[in-house]
Amino acid sequence: MSHLLDDPPHMLEHADTAAILRLLREHQTLLDSAGIGVALIRQRVLERCNQRYADIFGYPTPQEMAGISSVSFHPSRSNFRALGRSAYPFLSQGQTFKTERLMQRKNGRLFWGSLTGRLINPQDPSEGSIWTIDDIDEHKQAQSLLGNVMREKQLLFDHAAIGIAFYRDGKITRCNPHLEQMLGYRIGELQDVAPHCLISDTQAWSLLQQKNQGFLLHGLRFDAEVSLRRKDGTHIDCEIRCKLLDAADPTQGSVWILEDITTRKQAQQQLTQIQSRLEQQVRERTQELSTTVANLHREVQDRLQDQERIYWLAHYDPLTGLPNRTLLAQRSAAAIQTASDNSSPLAVIFLDLDHFKHVNDSLGHKVGDALLVEIGKRLRSAVRERDTVARLGGDEFVLLLPGANAQGAARVAEKLQQAALQPYQIERHELTIAPSMGIALHPRDGTDFDTLTQAADVAMYHAKLDGRNTFRFYTPEMQAKSLRALQLENALRRALERNQFQLHYQPQVCLHTGHIHSAEALLRWQHPELGFISPAEFIPVAEDSGQILQIGEWVLRTAVEQLKHWRGKGLGKIKVAVNLSAIQFHQPQLPEMVNRILTESGISPDLLELELTEGVAVQDPRTATVTMDRLNAHGIRLSMDDFGTGYSSLSQLKRFQIYKLKIDQSFIRDIDHDSNDRAIVSAIIRMAQALGMRTTAEGVETQEQLDFLRTQGCDEAQGYHFSRPLAASDFASFLQQYRLQH
Ligand code: C2E
Ligand code: MG
Ligand code: MG
Repeated sequence: MSHLLDDPPHMLEHADTAAILRLLREHQTLLDSAGIGVALIRQRVLERCNQRYADIFGYPTPQEMAGISSVSFHPSRSNFRALGRSAYPFLSQGQTFKTERLMQRKNGRLFWGSLTGRLINPQDPSEGSIWTIDDIDEHKQAQSLLGNVMREKQLLFDHAAIGIAFYRDGKITRCNPHLEQMLGYRIGELQDVAPHCLISDTQAWSLLQQKNQGFLLHGLRFDAEVSLRRKDGTHIDCEIRCKLLDAADPTQGSVWILEDITTRKQAQQQLTQIQSRLEQQVRERTQELSTTVANLHREVQDRLQDQERIYWLAHYDPLTGLPNRTLLAQRSAAAIQTASDNSSPLAVIFLDLDHFKHVNDSLGHKVGDALLVEIGKRLRSAVRERDTVARLGGDEFVLLLPGANAQGAARVAEKLQQAALQPYQIERHELTIAPSMGIALHPRDGTDFDTLTQAADVAMYHAKLDGRNTFRFYTPEMQAKSLRALQLENALRRALERNQFQLHYQPQVCLHTGHIHSAEALLRWQHPELGFISPAEFIPVAEDSGQILQIGEWVLRTAVEQLKHWRGKGLGKIKVAVNLSAIQFHQPQLPEMVNRILTESGISPDLLELELTEGVAVQDPRTATVTMDRLNAHGIRLSMDDFGTGYSSLSQLKRFQIYKLKIDQSFIRDIDHDSNDRAIVSAIIRMAQALGMRTTAEGVETQEQLDFLRTQGCDEAQGYHFSRPLAASDFASFLQQYRLQH
């Protein structure tokens, strides 16, 4: 207000002018140096102002501002009026009006000013008013900045997904909603709560406290993991971070940031579990793998052992451990090759034990087996290292002697005989068993394995024929007997003990009733190498060699056992007809043997019929009659088989007490077109009727044959027309079926 002195007021006339002037000057200086703008406004026009006022509004000097309408200091006329409206009640009362307003500088820029106004004379507003202004723009900006910061902080505080609490003097002074929510409290409920009430474990709290103090006092941040108790009593895992609000003044308290890490911890635990489970699985898998590898290793070992075992089984006899036929054949082939290459001798000895079957039958297979093992050892020790002792099966051994000529082979055979004199001690039995041996020489008797062993076998057979316990060299004369017969004879020797026989049954049909009351037992022989051999072929061989006795007894026993079995199965009253060889028939013990078999099995004698051939009667009619009488006395019926092919006389037939005639199939075969045969067949039937005998026609194959036989009064028929001979079980089913249909 530099104009004050330039324009002295007219009231100075009574006062000490100098003093007033001085006072004015002092005021002027005061105003000029004031840090606040001061202006005199009269009638809405600035009359005077100080330098600061000019500075604030952007004018170079106060003089330049004089006369300016005070409206221009405001952003708008409405602003200006609003100020007037709010100021008036104060000003008119003579009070100071204070406000903070947006003002406008000369250059148009707005700024915040702090205004005070007062009328010079409240009684007369026209005298004007004094206004002071302070530029508070910077302060205002700082304030709004602070406000923003505060708002931001509040927002963060209110919406952070993390718990925040301020702690001071042992309690929570403030906390955010998230913390309350986290702990299950309502808004405001945690205010003034002591934190230890929230910590699950008091011990954990005091530990936390101690650590906390230590850290915080050093101005450090403090982290901890702690379990908190929610309002509902459940627990959550939290990670807590603490920091003093003012490191210089711990009494200001601290801020706590709490994060719920329950899920994270659970996930971590799950992860750890999964990891350990995985590790466990890996361990188990590794273990499994190593077991598998070990098993594989063992399996490979086993396979190798199996292979060795298979090889062994294929080449050695399991009982004695001696080479078997296969290995013998291999070694023989090699030895024969060497013998021919070097023109060196070679002998084969076929050895069969005499009456070994007897040992087996009377002392049992165990003793028999043990004996075979010992014999094997003794044979082995009697020959040289390079010789082969093989067991072919049963009681048959073959010795392959490379380099041995006739003399050498004979020496070996004698040595074996000598050795056999020494009894064998098997369990508590002292056994002596002699061998029969046949010797074949290479190349004289054969140049291959089969021929040589067969020749040796034939020679052995002759040794047996010549009284056993001896040896024979093979000679071509021995072959005189048909090779086939020899083969069969040899094979027959083992057929019984090797179970190669079987009985088949052919039904016999009654022509009056059409029923089947009986069956004929027919022997079947299936040889592993020779195949099926017809009884018509092997029965004569067995008769020649005497083996028919054993075989015949087996047939009888088996047929009777079968009868018993069928009866047990409810097949009813069925008879069985068994063929008897003439040789059997001439055995004086025959009737007792038959009777014994029947008694043993409890089968009634009238269910057994024996078929004889005409030859029986022709050879020795007197003894035949005695035997037949004895059989008849036992109640066993006899029939004459193949009737018409032999030479039996009618008178003889009458004496024989024959119950039935079986008309040979050679007559039946041609009855359809051969009138002679028809005449013979009808004569046989009539003759039999006259003698009180029944007739059975054999080999009936057609309906025509059957019709003719029926008209002739034949009693029974048997033949393919009804059935071929059947295995026992097939026969039973056939019979059941047949009975259903007839
Ligand atoms: P066989 O006692 O006269 O037996 C009848 C033979 O005729 C049987 O031959 C039988 O299969 C056959 N046959 C049955 N029906 C017909 C047919 O309709 N047409 C033709 N073509 N043949 C038929 P298989 O079984 O070959 O027996 C032959 C002979 O061997 C028997 O004649 C018998 O003498 C004898 N035989 C069979 N088994 C034994 C037995 O256990 N002991 C004795 N000692 N000899 C037996
Ligand atoms: Mg017969
Ligand atoms: Mg016959």
